[in-house]
Amino acid sequence: MEYTLTFDEYNRALKKNRLLGLTCTKCSAVITPPVMICPACGAGDLEVKELSGRGVIQTFTVNFVAPLGRESEAPYTVVMVELDEGPWIMGNLVDVDPAVVNMDIIGKRVRMGETIGARVFPGDAYSAGDACRPLFQFEK
Ligand SMILES: [Zn+2]
Repeated sequence: MEYTLTFDEYNRALKKNRLLGLTCTKCSAVITPPVMICPACGAGDLEVKELSGRGVIQTFTVNFVAPLGRESEAPYTVVMVELDEGPWIMGNLVDVDPAVVNMDIIGKRVRMGETIGARVFPGDAYSAGDACRPLFQFEK
């Protein structure tokens, strides 16, 4: 069995500000980041689907301690966004100073920006190399 969408392909799309996911042809679940098997029904017949990158903040955390080798990034805010298509995805929130962010951001609509849709993070001491993460900003 092969991956319909590899993490490398997903990462390359993110670098072009495109968020890719998968649709299960059996149960219609929408999934991202990519997986081999539908987590909802176990089927392996998945199709690539481009997602809007828009959704609602469900929860967040502020990291004051970054991974080894990336200390200059802290502090930063990580949000869990429920995308309009259904799946939840983590990304960085760039519109708010992490020093003052609070519970008021929960429930707010965000989108991946057209110019800031994703950021490439260099690999840290424990990873296999660089990776991309969505960047979210509030919908105006
Ligand atoms: Zn399914």
